[in-house]
Amino acid sequence: MPQSEPFEPMCPICGKPVVEAVRPFCSRRCANVDLGRWLTGQYRVRHTSNATGDDEATE
Ligand SMILES: [Zn+2]
Repeated sequence: MPQSEPFEPMCPICGKPVVEAVRPFCSRRCANVDLGRWLTGQYRVRHTSNATGDDEATE
């Protein structure tokens, strides 16, 4: 067995082996999925946390 790495990194989205070009994911698709989740979560949390934008929802 090769001893290049102590363990094989896995894609956090689908669990497949990581591809170096797009790590820590296995593909660009999974990278986009993770990015989308992160951005959506951040936006939602910040948006519902405190309502400071009355510019659009007042009318
Ligand atoms: Zn993946």
